[in-house]
Amino acid sequence: MKIGEIDINIKMGDITEEKVDAIVNAANNTLLGGGGVDGAIHKKGGASILEQCKKHSGCPTGEARITTAGNLPSKYVIHAVGPIYGRTDSMDEILLYNAYTNSLKLAAEYNLKSISFPSISTGSYGYPIDAAVAIVKQALENFSKIKSTIMEINLIMFSNDNFKIYEDYFE
Ligand code: ADP
Repeated sequence: MKIGEIDINIKMGDITEEKVDAIVNAANNTLLGGGGVDGAIHKKGGASILEQCKKHSGCPTGEARITTAGNLPSKYVIHAVGPIYGRTDSMDEILLYNAYTNSLKLAAEYNLKSISFPSISTGSYGYPIDAAVAIVKQALENFSKIKSTIMEINLIMFSNDNFKIYEDYFE
């Protein structure tokens, strides 16, 4: 489907296999690695990603930092930090929105065309998928109104349940 000029694809898959300009990592504030998507990216991508992450000295929630992608098939990894659900007094929505929006802005600053996102914060960070998908769609709609280099956004789902929820909501 399209949102504005941007192609949006909802897919099942492993984000570490995406051949795009940038994949987004569901990182934590330290940027030093973790479980889930983060663990998979560092494990497959190799030590050069962690070396670059260390130089960023962490990242506040809602923001994003960029590194190259080591051994991964993408060119860059954008490390975005989503909120841990229920920890921030009613700030969860805006922080998740910011994590997506800031990743897209960073990709555009690097003149990138294609980007793949995992479902940020909905794994170990506990964000309910039904609430998250509404925020993701809003972020993409608002971003599409700004002129940028981004032509393709892939939303990579790791479970059939999440895939179905995303498909239903975006249609
Ligand atoms: P967070 O800590 O932000 O919640 P997680 O990595 O725990 O991040 O989970 C975010 C989402 O990514 C979950 O839906 C999880 O199932 C999914 N996921 C885990 N591994 C991968 C992967 N290799 N590719 C794509 N999605 C993944």
